[in-house]
Amino acid sequence: MYDFVVVGVGPAGARFARRAAEDGYDVVALEKGQVGEPLACSGHVSTDVWTFTGEGAREALFQNEIYGARFHVGGPRSDAYPFYKREVASNVIDRVGLDRHLADLAREAGADVREEHTVTAVEEGHDRVTVEYNGPDGPGTLEAKMVAGCDGPRSRVREALELPEPDELLHGVLAFSDEEDHQDFVDVHLTAPTFFAWRIPRGDAGVEYGLAAPPGVQVTKHFEELIDGYEIDVSHRCSGAIPIGPPDRVTTRRGFLLGDAAAQTKPFTGGGILYGMTAADHAAREVDPDRPTTLAAYERAWRDDLERDQQLGRWIRRAYSLPEPIQRLGLGALSGEIGVHMDRPTSLVSPSHLRAMLSRLHVR
Ligand SMILES: Cc1cc2nc3c(=O)[nH]c(=O)nc-3n(C[C@H](O)[C@H](O)[C@H](O)COP(=O)(O)OP(=O)(O)OC[C@H]3O[C@@H](n4cnc5c(N)ncnc54)[C@H](O)[C@@H]3O)c2cc1C
Repeated sequence: MYDFVVVGVGPAGARFARRAAEDGYDVVALEKGQVGEPLACSGHVSTDVWTFTGEGAREALFQNEIYGARFHVGGPRSDAYPFYKREVASNVIDRVGLDRHLADLAREAGADVREEHTVTAVEEGHDRVTVEYNGPDGPGTLEAKMVAGCDGPRSRVREALELPEPDELLHGVLAFSDEEDHQDFVDVHLTAPTFFAWRIPRGDAGVEYGLAAPPGVQVTKHFEELIDGYEIDVSHRCSGAIPIGPPDRVTTRRGFLLGDAAAQTKPFTGGGILYGMTAADHAAREVDPDRPTTLAAYERAWRDDLERDQQLGRWIRRAYSLPEPIQRLGLGALSGEIGVHMDRPTSLVSPSHLRAMLSRLHVR
């Protein structure tokens, strides 16, 4: 019997598999397709991402560095309100490559990572979990002391363990043009109901255009308007779900959720790569597969670390729905240099942000 069966090898699952294997646990990780595919993510992350990677990762995965964002209340021709940092705020990276790199690190640590293994059922017993899967050689069954549900926004593990759903699943779409663009600003358009559209320069890898909005919104129509506004041809369209609002509970007696399965995302951007891996580290530190009561410590640890930032992120997102004249006023008043960490909205009260605000007052 394994110590942990990890379902899904995205950033959260790969990170947990690696850390648990490094701690000497017997880990098997099942991925339904090929690791990293299909792509449904911008790979726009804070530079903290490099603290989770191994040797040579930055050279292989880095595409562009970003200092700030230009906010627009309308399309590309509308006024831009820049928010920026003096140092690099974030990186744009090869997301498919990131997943493969993280899975390789898990393998090197000793985890048994199996691609083309789709989990079809999870049953939680008194002293073990039983997982059924369909693999290249047909159906099979595995037993483990615990199951880690890292299987993304529409998590099958979450459903099987009867854990609550996230509050909301946004629908995100992406497409790429082949313009070479090394600019160090992304553009954010507050044109999609309750969320936004974006343009991300990816260096030699072209430019990405994207948009996310809640169900019921005509995402394709809003996306076409964005593309038409930029007067550009795009290809490689893809889409995915973004869970918002963590459920009240992400643990059971022998199971726990990580990453998008647990809606460990930033409500004001939808970003979840760093939060998922951060939560995976909390789980690897706290959970002992021989002591199911340790799951409560994981539940506490990730919430203590991320929940306040998620709550503040929800408030920031509300500003996307304010009437346009108020948005213009607010963006005009607040734009300029900032000292906020992109993963940590609570850093709005950090000394670095307050210093940046004060220096602006002197300039004005
Ligand atoms: C359009 C869009 C843009 C985004 N842009 C960004 C961004 O710029 N920055 C950022 O930080 N985040 C971004 N995100 C969010 C980010 O992609 C997720 O937060 C992140 O992928 C979550 O990682 P995860 O490991 O929890 O889940 P996932 O990456 O979804 O991995 C889950 C894995 O589980 C596998 N799986 C699912 N079901 C099964 C099963 N039954 N059996 C076996 N395997 C299974 C899947 O194939 C997948 O590989 C974006 C999301 C979308 C939709």
